[in-house]
Formats: sequence, structure tokens, C-alpha cells
Amino acid sequence: DPDILVAGETLIDFLPEHPGSLQEVETFTRRPGGAPANVAVALATLGEVPRFWTRVGDDPFGDDLAETLAEYGLSDELVERDPEAKTSLAFVSHDESADRQFSFYRDGTADTRMEPGSVDHLLKSVSWVHLGGVTLASEPSRAATLDLAERAGDAGCTVSFDPNARPELWDSRAEFGRLVDEVLPNVDVLKATPEDLAEAGIEGEGTDLARAACERGPHTTLLTLGGEGALAVATDGAPWSGEATHAGYRVDPVDTTGAGDAFTAGAIAALSGGEDLAEAIAFGNAVAATTTTAEGAMTALPDRESVERFRAERE
Ligand code: ATP
Repeated sequence: DPDILVAGETLIDFLPEHPGSLQEVETFTRRPGGAPANVAVALATLGEVPRFWTRVGDDPFGDDLAETLAEYGLSDELVERDPEAKTSLAFVSHDESADRQFSFYRDGTADTRMEPGSVDHLLKSVSWVHLGGVTLASEPSRAATLDLAERAGDAGCTVSFDPNARPELWDSRAEFGRLVDEVLPNVDVLKATPEDLAEAGIEGEGTDLARAACERGPHTTLLTLGGEGALAVATDGAPWSGEATHAGYRVDPVDTTGAGDAFTAGAIAALSGGEDLAEAIAFGNAVAATTTTAEGAMTALPDRESVERFRAERE
């Protein structure tokens, strides 16, 4: 039985064919997305098929997403279909330097209607639960996410969390920061970028920044640094020890969408399998670097063998 539970949004990303502002882009390619969906699919591709709790509309986009998740080997047991709400959509644009802009169609959509208590009965049968910050932006998925983090901790699970700062989804930075602060005491392993943490009001650089994040609750913080790789800090109470940095792998990136999610999946697979921090971020970086070599968050996800081959070629 799956040992990992991932929960959160599945949506359709509309990615622009050419750089430019959202006002100008004419042609979009649709891709399955949602950070937790990306993490679940990446774990499945690595051979660690998780349970995945999500909610999509009972509409053609929902049909497509449900089919995609199944194609990656995820069970439909916790893929809820909402007869009264549509599937979330996200339109993305980027300028020449790949700085992204989002426009979300997510008011009252299916994933915002994930309800507290829906998966509590499963918490005894998993040892790791992964959650994200997007479902914290609206109710009742906010209550569902906060509640799940707390109950998973009570049930003895390791709880990991990615804030996924999306300013477009929040009324203010203060509101985002408040919700991150509310969930972090129930988080064991935080995965974030420096930009996520700045948005939540946690400032600093490098290992100092990771340590500052740990002061809000998590015993471990994994910071990803784009092309510069990642670093990790563990404090007292973590089942692994110390600090680690890994400079990442040089690749020619085609599309970095979902790279952070691929990293998260790699790190969870390693840590939940008993590996140490250094191995977790090296493995996470290898999974993430591979993922950037093709368009789309789910297209170039590697299996375990490809990750080993990729690392052997470079080490
Ligand atoms: P996203 O939000 O797009 O999923 P992110 O912003 O959360 O990604 P990043 O820190 O940009 O996360 O990237 C995550 C990981 O992906 C990095 O730690 C690294 O391993 C890998 N990565 C990202 N960009 C590059 C790159 N240009 N070259 C090699 N690896 C990269």
C-alpha cells in the first residue's frame, strides 16, 4: 500500500507559445498542472506511487486531468469529481528572462472545495503527508489543509509543505504570511524558494534563511535555488542531522515549470526511504534538472533508473 499521501490542487496550466504579457499572448498550450499533482505524478514515476487526494470539476477538463493522473499510475480513489464546480485554470505568461505572471480562474472551483476530514481515516496507513500553499488561499480547502497538517502530525506522519507563493491568489502578502505561519508549526519538512519565504515575510540568505524558516516550526528546511541547486538545514528533533548543500546539475533547460515539484518528489522519495539530507538534495536536484529538459511539468519526469544513470554520467 502507498506510504505517502499527497493532497492539493490539480488544474490546467495554459502556457504561452511565445514570451510576452498576458494581454498580448495569442496562443497557449494546455498542460496538466497544480504543484501537488506534479509532486504526486513525479513520485509515481520514481516508483513511489502515493495516494493523491484532489478535487476536479465534473467537466471535460476534469475528465482530462483524471485520465492523466490515472495514466501516471495514481489511483482514482481520492480523485473527487465535483458536480457543482468547475476545474481550476491558470494562464501563464513570461517575459524573455522567464519571469512568470499568472492569471488564475479559481473562484469557487473544485479544488477550493476540498473538505476537512475527507482523508483522516487514511492517516494511520501512511507515514508521510505532503501539502502545498495554494489550497490555503480559499475556504474550505484552507481548513482542509490546516486540519490535515495537524491530524497527520498527531497520527505520527512526517508532514512536508511547499508554500508555492502565488501573490495573484492572495489579497495581501500579510494574509499569505499569516497562513504560512499558521501551518508551519505542524510542518516537519519545509520545501521553499527564497522568493516563497520573502513573500511570507521570512528574510535572509542561504543557510541563515533556512534556519530562520525552521524557527517557525519545521525541523528541516530544504531551499531550492534554481540553477544553483539546493541546500538543507536540519535542527534538533529531525531524524537526520546537519546541513547540506548541492550545486545542482548543468543542463540546457527548456522549461523549468514544475522543477521545484520534481525536486520535492525526489527529496521525499529519498528521505522517506531512509537517506540523509545530502543524498536527498542531490537526488532532488537530479530529478529536477532532468525535468527541465522538456516542455511541461510532467513530460520529462525520470524514473529511478534514469536518475541513477544521469548522476553516474556526471559524478
Ligand atoms: P517551480 O515553481 O517552477 O516548480 P521553483 O521555483 O519552485 O520551481 P527552483 O528553485 O527554481 O524552484 O528550481 C527547483 C530545482 O530545479 C532546483 O533546485 C534545481 O535542482 C532545478 N533547476 C531549476 N532551474 C534549473 C536550471 N536552470 N538548471 C539546472 N537545474 C535547475
